[in-house]
Amino acid sequence: MSYVDEIIEKVVKENPAEPEFHQAVKEVLESLRIVVDANEEKFRRDALLERLVNPERQIKFRVPWVDDNGQVHVNTGYRVQFNSAIGPYKGGLRLHPSVNLGIIKFLGFEQIFKNSLTGLPIGGGKGGADFDPKGKSDREIMAFCQSFMLELYKYIGADTDVPAGDIGTGAREIGYMFGQYKRIRGLFEGVLTGKGLSFGGSLARTEATGYGLLYITEEMLKCHGQSLEGKTVTVSGAGNVAIYAVEKAQQLGAKVVTVSDSCGWAYDPNGIDVKALKEIKEEKRQRLTEYQKYRPNSEYHEGKGVWNVKSDIALPCATQNELDLEDAKALVANGVIAVCEGANMPTTLEATKYLQENGIYFIPGKAANAGGVATSALEMAQNSERLSWSFEKVDAKLKAIMIDLFHNIENAAKKYGFDGNYVVGANIAGFEKVVDAMNAQGIV
Ligand code: NDP
Repeated sequence: MSYVDEIIEKVVKENPAEPEFHQAVKEVLESLRIVVDANEEKFRRDALLERLVNPERQIKFRVPWVDDNGQVHVNTGYRVQFNSAIGPYKGGLRLHPSVNLGIIKFLGFEQIFKNSLTGLPIGGGKGGADFDPKGKSDREIMAFCQSFMLELYKYIGADTDVPAGDIGTGAREIGYMFGQYKRIRGLFEGVLTGKGLSFGGSLARTEATGYGLLYITEEMLKCHGQSLEGKTVTVSGAGNVAIYAVEKAQQLGAKVVTVSDSCGWAYDPNGIDVKALKEIKEEKRQRLTEYQKYRPNSEYHEGKGVWNVKSDIALPCATQNELDLEDAKALVANGVIAVCEGANMPTTLEATKYLQENGIYFIPGKAANAGGVATSALEMAQNSERLSWSFEKVDAKLKAIMIDLFHNIENAAKKYGFDGNYVVGANIAGFEKVVDAMNAQGIV
């Protein structure tokens, strides 16, 4: 049995009930097969893949907190410190009822390669809790965040592990967590990114993931003699990534006709009104049903359906496995030319394969949404030098990083004979740097 197959089998056996983690490992290792096969003897001797798929450390802890009625609740918190070969662990904190160890491990594993692709010195990690921020009062959110940090602080620090936001963790949650860390440690340091602008946050961090997604999409289209100008785009999600993806797509001349949340989706044939979307989601924290009040000509539909809308470009920006084989077939039948992932692993393995086999340009999340973590690393750099850069400076750096990243994955794919396969290109390019650093640092 090949080394890759052996490791996939082992991961499935040794990590039961973690399907998302299995899926992420399979996706990465399958596309690294060509590199692993060429170095099989050395990699086996060094147990390189075993070291890559086993986190350096995984922490699981109890998070008790009291609600507004005096009721005590207990959630489970996680931090998985996956790989620190190229820098301090870096990766977001997800607060969502679906969170479990397997989800955090899949996200942490992906993060290793994504962070490597940014070209910046950051290792891979991820964390979160099965806490649902929806419907909670500000005081309840603060109580949860403070209790969460009361345990997490032991494992993080500006030079060891720097968490950030993710689903359910936005500026408000990062603020409460930062305040608690500072109070416990007596240290004002860049231990979290996505901070408010008045206490060490970076301009353009809020926009970074969505903007970065569009910068890489535009560069990829350019290389195929196309552009976003005049294209119709479907977006899923209505959170941080989706909102700024819609904004930048429209700035670049495209028309975005959909957004969605976990209850339903909005279709606006005249183009999504970003100002209204921000007011509903960022300020009022309401459901998308409200969108029709701002745009009477739009439609609201319950459930799933974004991928059945005719478009040129699809940008999944909500959550993992939200675009399955049926959706991929609908997209192809409707003439889509590109799918670029704003979320982490939103496309199932079967759907990815189908899209690629049908000649759709497909950029995986670890490359396409890397602008968020890249700008987090720029926030770390600003914190270290105790300076704040202008929006234009951060945005220009972000754009340059995304353009470089695209050419890096394109070249890696070409080098190994997979021209145009950006999944293979992203995994190989991300992997090579991490392996180089791991080899140089000995068996640790
Ligand atoms: P937000 O919490 O801001 O928004 C998430 C959006 O997706 C919401 O509209 C939410 O709807 C929807 N959603 C979440 N879970 C589900 C679900 N199970 N089914 C349907 N819809 C769902 O998160 P972000 O925008 O920050 O993150 C979105 C994705 O992008 C995630 O995969 C995240 O890991 C990834 N990502 C985020 C980065 C960042 O900088 N924020 C960086 C890189 C990747 P509702 O409000 O109804 O729950």
